Amino acid sequence: LVVSNWTEFRKQVEQIYELCKKNEQGQVATYIPQLGQVDPSNWSVSICTVDGQQLNLGNYQEYFTIQSVSKPFVYAIALDHLGQDTVHKYVGKEPSGKMFNELILNHENKPHNPMINSGAIVTCSLIHSMIDSFGNKPSLVFERTKEYFEKLAGGLHVGFNTSVYISEQETADRNYAISFYLKEHKCFPSNSKLSETLKFYFRCCSLNVSTSVLAAMGSSLANYGINPLTSEKIYKTSSVKNTLSLMYSCGMYDYSGQFAFEVGLPGKSGVSGAMVIAIPDVMGIGLWSPRLGKLGISEDVSIPSI
Ligand code: GLU
Repeated sequence: LVVSNWTEFRKQVEQIYELCKKNEQGQVATYIPQLGQVDPSNWSVSICTVDGQQLNLGNYQEYFTIQSVSKPFVYAIALDHLGQDTVHKYVGKEPSGKMFNELILNHENKPHNPMINSGAIVTCSLIHSMIDSFGNKPSLVFERTKEYFEKLAGGLHVGFNTSVYISEQETADRNYAISFYLKEHKCFPSNSKLSETLKFYFRCCSLNVSTSVLAAMGSSLANYGINPLTSEKIYKTSSVKNTLSLMYSCGMYDYSGQFAFEVGLPGKSGVSGAMVIAIPDVMGIGLWSPRLGKLGISEDVSIPSI
């Protein structure tokens, strides 16, 4: 067993959960108005080890939108089908050190990495216009992508939040601005369509998950692409390796360096307050607390002493 003394482990995680529950700092994101409707006191944690042991705390059955936690999983799909050389012709591998939705490119005129908005929008355009087996039609591309998420969830339900999707589309000026900036700098493959790419990006962000789902997804990365609950091989091992590297260096936006310093694990944040952590060979962790710090992520990583 990866965690041999489960009872003791559970006790310690419960203690940390209760201590964190007392932290009421931070604000729920409101720039996507529908996200502002959520109860800020939600707090759930789920764990799924690479040998399939599961732990769930708080309202772990409650669903919320995955937001940017979708980015590493979408990037891994692109790697799986197109390979790292093709993908990285279009997107870099460095942290940007800037806000997640900044209009900025690296010195080669590419988005800095696939974990920030610009890079994820480009990755979405690659999936939309370059993976022929995905059908090249918006409905089919989304269906194939959602199937990946369902496999990663190991049989748990993955939903779609239409209200958040509509709300995000209505208030997406910044993501449109980023996309036109990318288009101006010829960052997209020649046959890609900006509006379809953006819709696909919003759809990926509007997938509905719970922390149990996120833990199962994270455990699939921790287990080199094989879901521990179903034993299904979902991603190539090389795609997982690249994804974990960029989660480690870029997964927390402009808090990535500090997160790597303090926590030292591959992770990804989202503005819904969702977070996934993958500890290679050990476990996936799913967390959800809608209150965010000023950088737009769940950034207070000070671990309470127990
Ligand atoms: N859908 C959000 C956006 O594009 C994702 C940002 C995030 O989750 O950090 O603004």
